[in-house]
Amino acid sequence: MQNNAMRELLKLSCNAKTRSGHPCKSTTVKGKKRCRMHGGTNNGAPKGNMNSFKHGYYTKENIAKRSEIHKLIKECRKLSQELEGDY
Ligand SMILES: [Zn+2]
Repeated sequence: MQNNAMRELLKLSCNAKTRSGHPCKSTTVKGKKRCRMHGGTNNGAPKGNMNSFKHGYYTKENIAKRSEIHKLIKECRKLSQELEGDY
């Protein structure tokens, strides 16, 4: 109990969103950012996990590709605006 109070003083609260919409006030698991109820004890999926792979939209490669395309579009828009400003 005393340990919990000390950790609260250090502001180690979970802050995950609860079902009521408020931030969770539980203290985090040591060395983690979430409490035991919100995944603090969960290590996450193992590397190379293909359980949720369906179409590859969120693979690292595709995310990087989309990011590049968005950068190009942004540059094109900027260039287009600059050219329009010349007239
Ligand atoms: Zn929590």
